[in-house]
Amino acid sequence: MLANMAVSVCMLASGSRGNCAIVTSARTKLLVDAGISCRETFKRMKTLGEDPRSLSAILITHEHSDHIYGLAMLARKLRVPVFMTGATHHAWARAMRDENGERPQLEKLERFESGHRFQVGDIEVRPFTIPHDAADPVGFTLRAEGVKVGFVTDLGYLPVSVRDHLRGCDVLVMESNHDLEMLRVGPYPWAVKQRVMSRVGHLSNEALADFLINDYDNSATFVVLAHLSEQNNHPEIARREAEKALSIRGGLFHNRLLLASQSQALGPIQV
Ligand SMILES: [Zn+2]
Ligand SMILES: [Zn+2]
Repeated sequence: MLANMAVSVCMLASGSRGNCAIVTSARTKLLVDAGISCRETFKRMKTLGEDPRSLSAILITHEHSDHIYGLAMLARKLRVPVFMTGATHHAWARAMRDENGERPQLEKLERFESGHRFQVGDIEVRPFTIPHDAADPVGFTLRAEGVKVGFVTDLGYLPVSVRDHLRGCDVLVMESNHDLEMLRVGPYPWAVKQRVMSRVGHLSNEALADFLINDYDNSATFVVLAHLSEQNNHPEIARREAEKALSIRGGLFHNRLLLASQSQALGPIQV
């Protein structure tokens, strides 16, 4: 029965058209972000044999639509607590009001503050600030049963504080958004390219490789590349960069490298 008690991670969707993941412990099942429609979330959960009604709560990293698109409907249908910072909630509610003309209601809103840990069932959640152009964006580490899972996507660079949070992770989900050269020569207007490349934009393959070579502690059983750009990256390029970086440190044998995808679910990743 031990296998059933492990912590598992499923990446339901990852990328600029919607992000959603599930972390499951013995007693708790969390949705991390709700960026695909409620219907698609349920559909992908079912393909993995997961029952949407078994979700305990929803955690939100920030209010960009690729992280909250399905939130209102999911919260209404599942009636589970939704954890987000006050500023993220404010920004989300304002955007929803501008779109629909009415302020959305979350039946069970739970506000947290970046830097302050909290407990959901048997999972300890630590939210920490990341540099990104949203109201109050966070990454998370989640701990249960001696297992630590780290989530960092949507960040322009990796400050020392974020690198510190990622020590000792058994599963590390990290953004590998774009290849710098593909972005430079790609179809985006210059203003958008500048935004993506900025200190509050998205993490490049190269920036991730730099972290893997110079700061990463080789602790993860699984490294999951996430939030890949469909325009400015290619899964094989992202994989090659990360593999090269891990092999420089001799860590390629310790770490299994996985790629999360926009179009289909990945998982369960069990540790
Ligand atoms: Zn995003
Ligand atoms: Zn974002």
